[in-house]
Amino acid sequence: MTAHLAIYGCQQNQADGDRLRGMLLAMGYTMTDDRAGADLVVLVTCAVRKHAETRLLGHLGTYLHKGKPGRKVVLCGCMAQREEVRELLRKRYKQVSLSFGPADLGRFPEYLRRLMTEGGRHIITSPDTAPIEEGLPIARLIDPEINRANVTIMTGCDNYCSYCVVPYVRGRERSRAPEAVLEEVRGLVEDGVGEIWLIGQNVNSYKPDFPDLLRACASFEGNYQLRFMTSHPRDAGRRLFEAMASSPRIAPVLHLPAQSGSNAVLKAMNRGYTREDYLEKIRLAKETIENLTLSGDVIVGFPGETEQDFLDTLSLLEEVRFAKLFTFQYSARAGTPAAELTETLSPGEMKERFMRLLEVQKRIEEELGG
Ligand code: SF4
Repeated sequence: MTAHLAIYGCQQNQADGDRLRGMLLAMGYTMTDDRAGADLVVLVTCAVRKHAETRLLGHLGTYLHKGKPGRKVVLCGCMAQREEVRELLRKRYKQVSLSFGPADLGRFPEYLRRLMTEGGRHIITSPDTAPIEEGLPIARLIDPEINRANVTIMTGCDNYCSYCVVPYVRGRERSRAPEAVLEEVRGLVEDGVGEIWLIGQNVNSYKPDFPDLLRACASFEGNYQLRFMTSHPRDAGRRLFEAMASSPRIAPVLHLPAQSGSNAVLKAMNRGYTREDYLEKIRLAKETIENLTLSGDVIVGFPGETEQDFLDTLSLLEEVRFAKLFTFQYSARAGTPAAELTETLSPGEMKERFMRLLEVQKRIEEELGG
């Protein structure tokens, strides 16, 4: 039996994909790139923006016509955790035989066996939160050119930023035991992996302690470098920056999503810090970590964002001077508090601000020599 795995979205989905690939191989499947010819297609989906969902649902349509008779389509990941999507799958996308949410990752073999023995359709409502299952087989596709691997250290998020669906699809924060993470990192170092990413929705709230975990992961003999994603500015601080400066095995690279430079917008986003707090963290990081490379995220067009709020965001870029910036136009996500707010910009106005932001960032990157 052959299986095709298609992974959309973030590094956490990539890491979940590595486990799904491991479980498929352990069940005797052969992986194939041939989506049409596969006996089983597994889609690991992303729900962070409306566009991601619409695109995936568009792709699903192509699975209806082309493909091997009897082929089974499985949809998992964040979209499968949204009731709105499950309703669509039940009513419209009959080509999907099985769907389950991120917290049920470890139950995939059980669900697949049930599908293969009972047939029918299984649109499963998974729990929002469940302990991260240890011991699942992992099969990574490590590109020798990049030689990099992702290691999940925690999942879920308790921050409830007003625009974000992650807490509703990935559940409350839960962390893996330090021993399990260290064992996985040690194995990758021994396998000669050069770049190891410690990942989670908010690595800084890793329990018991992220700076300690980072130092411990940097203590193995070997030629490797550690990176991590994603940090929340409220939880990142002196202990993290000192840990980053403590070893050449920890890359002096910090991704710290700002989202906005306006205190009014940061408050409406429920980000939990002010512009001044954010700039103070950046100042401390630059002071503590030599040759620091900074990257960030910014959302343009949040409901209620005035021209002055937007100018505050542009001036924040001028002050921080990110080497790289991930930029987004606000996308209302059903079920989030922000989706109840009235959008104040037309699509044209949103685009205009977005282009002005890109221009400023492009100039800064050129000045930094990027
Ligand atoms: S910190 Fe905010 S934006 Fe990031 S995953 Fe959590 S709720 Fe979403």
